[in-house]
Amino acid sequence: MAEYLASIFGTEKDKVNCSFYFKIGACRHGDRCSRLHNKPTFSQTILIQNIYRNPQNSAQTADGSHCAVSDVEMQEHYDEFFEEVFTEMEEKYGEVEEMNVCDNLGDHLVGNVYVKFRREEDAEKAVIDLNNRWFNGQPIHAELSPVTDFREACCRQYEMGECTRGGFCNFMHLKPISRELRRELYGRRRKNAFQQEAPPPTPTGANPEETTSHEPGTFYKMSGLHTSKTPTSQSNKWL
Ligand SMILES: [Zn+2]
Ligand SMILES: [Zn+2]
Repeated sequence: MAEYLASIFGTEKDKVNCSFYFKIGACRHGDRCSRLHNKPTFSQTILIQNIYRNPQNSAQTADGSHCAVSDVEMQEHYDEFFEEVFTEMEEKYGEVEEMNVCDNLGDHLVGNVYVKFRREEDAEKAVIDLNNRWFNGQPIHAELSPVTDFREACCRQYEMGECTRGGFCNFMHLKPISRELRRELYGRRRKNAFQQEAPPPTPTGANPEETTSHEPGTFYKMSGLHTSKTPTSQSNKWL
């Protein structure tokens, strides 16, 4: 019996645990789901909810026939976003094994960013810190995610270009970054790992002076306890 339960855990046959939450880290029923969402107490993966905004979604005309943002512009904007988040995660919290961004439209998946760190401690540190930060004028909501295998979580049909459910599909539609950026980010990471033979850099966040810079293109932390005013910085900026 125990073996049977283990074999169905988190699958559709499991009547107790929600298979969507288990595989995808998000379920359209949210807290009202009739099955259990087992939140992990430790994980390499974190979910940052709803932070990527596809400019094409807001630039569409009402009938969806015309879009003011070209595919090239959208890809550039996306690559920039991806690089910014990826770099911030590695610089502040630790080595990133994999990062994925959902291009779905359903409320529970839209703009979700999943970051899988190499070390669980880094994921834990990231969640605690990110929940006190802002991105693009919105407070960040981050949590540890049960997702470890993105192959299981993503929509195969989408990858083949044939998902008929479109943006409201309940599996991840992972938006690809350009090949150049992939090479740059994941290649650089390998180089960094190699260089860590040298003395490690000062621990991140150790110097509060450093994190309050307001220069464009840099990330900064909220000063004081709560700032209710909307940040005036440009798009894709952290606070
Ligand atoms: Zn559920
Ligand atoms: Zn799909």
